[in-house]
Amino acid sequence: MKQSVKMIVGNWKMNGLAADLAQAEAVKTALAEAPTANRVGLCFPATLIAQAAWRLKGGAVEVGGQDCHAAASGAFTGSVSAKMLKDAGASLVIVGHSERRAGFGETDADVAAKVEAALRAGLEPIVCVGETLEERDAGRAVEVVTGQVAGSLPEALRGQAFAVAYEPVWAIGTGRTPTVHQVAEMHAAIRRALVDRLGAATTPILYGGSVNPKNAAELLAVDEVGGALVGGASLKADDFLAIVRAA
Ligand code: PEP
Repeated sequence: MKQSVKMIVGNWKMNGLAADLAQAEAVKTALAEAPTANRVGLCFPATLIAQAAWRLKGGAVEVGGQDCHAAASGAFTGSVSAKMLKDAGASLVIVGHSERRAGFGETDADVAAKVEAALRAGLEPIVCVGETLEERDAGRAVEVVTGQVAGSLPEALRGQAFAVAYEPVWAIGTGRTPTVHQVAEMHAAIRRALVDRLGAATTPILYGGSVNPKNAAELLAVDEVGGALVGGASLKADDFLAIVRAA
């Protein structure tokens, strides 16, 4: 199914100081001058969320966090809860990014608990899934990704606003992207898993992994690609806006 309203979300990762919010403000200004029908969001480092929310207020850019703890508060030194993100002005949160699954040992069960925390806090979760190159080469990509969908998406999501982001690990930050055929095959498999599991026939399934102004139109035109999760190319307003306009 083609979705007419796409969701284009930037992930700044561990990049950005206060001065860099000028890029986010440039996105806000450009969208005020030439509005888009698409949803646009930027997920900032936790340190910037409150300031970003204040500076982007009244505009079309939704503010998000990049991770949250599963608990609302407590003795978890260095962590940030979903409730804190919401309080700082976020409306979105990425959970289960492969950099957290691989680098911080997050399991599907951890991700599902974070999704529940996000929902309790009133945040819209963007749940990331994706296979490694070894898994794809072994012919296990669809099995791995649909397994992550089953394990990372709790029943609490039924009827709620959320998104899934398919991000092949080997495409993140590498400049490599899957073929249009591989994207179509995976997004169709994710849709089937979403419908079977949660009756989620219209939940956006974003593609992420080396999306840039040159390849965005082709990727976003694929059936069941409901938007993009954009890392590196979201740091510069011009590049990010070109992707928003390509959708
Ligand atoms: C990401 O990490 O979510 C991502 C898609 O990164 P990049 O666009 O830089 O590959």
